[in-house]
Amino acid sequence: MMGDRDFRTVIKNAIESVGKQLDYKIDTEDIGKIHLSEVTKCLRRSYYDRTDPIEAEKTRFSDLLGGMFRQLDYGSTPDTYDLPGDEQLKLEGQSDMIADDVVMIFRSVSEFPEDPFAKDILYLNACLWIYDKIDGILVYIDGNGNEASFSLTKDKKMFEEVVRRVRVLNDLIKSKKAPILEPSTECLTCQYYERCYTKKKKNEKDLVQQILGKDFK
Ligand code: SF4
Repeated sequence: MMGDRDFRTVIKNAIESVGKQLDYKIDTEDIGKIHLSEVTKCLRRSYYDRTDPIEAEKTRFSDLLGGMFRQLDYGSTPDTYDLPGDEQLKLEGQSDMIADDVVMIFRSVSEFPEDPFAKDILYLNACLWIYDKIDGILVYIDGNGNEASFSLTKDKKMFEEVVRRVRVLNDLIKSKKAPILEPSTECLTCQYYERCYTKKKKNEKDLVQQILGKDFK
């Protein structure tokens, strides 16, 4: 606290405002267009985001990384993929950059993973289908500005899984049914935790045990 102003709150609000500007733009009223970011995270969370949202906290500047690349002159613009056999349903996605026909996405991490995270691979692979490209690169950047990159070639089977999730989410939104829980470490920071688990937030150790006891990764 400095003087009459709580600067921590001011900074947090500023980051949240910037975050809103940089985040993917999703028209939650348009159920015929599902955004790729909605199906590469927990479907239940995406369902609540559309039907009964609670604002998620964005408190780290590093959460804004991909959005900052998209704002650059050479940042990429959103595009859509028409789902076969369903004229009413489209998948929308946006990579962060496309350079020399290579699709790129950037993610911030506190420490580098040995293997890329499944949701990032699913996201990048689906971008390859949306933009009709062959090769992609996923770049992780840590707090010190170091980077680790993983390359990916377009894969049909992985994309079919994304398409399946698009159809599931669309069906459940139409029928107003919440998707089943997808327990993962994402739950630890999810704003809908209390809708899915106990009324009162448990301590993190209990939750990690609960998550690791299930099959979903
Ligand atoms: S708490 Fe977990 S299962 Fe529930 S909506 Fe959030 S991420 Fe999904």
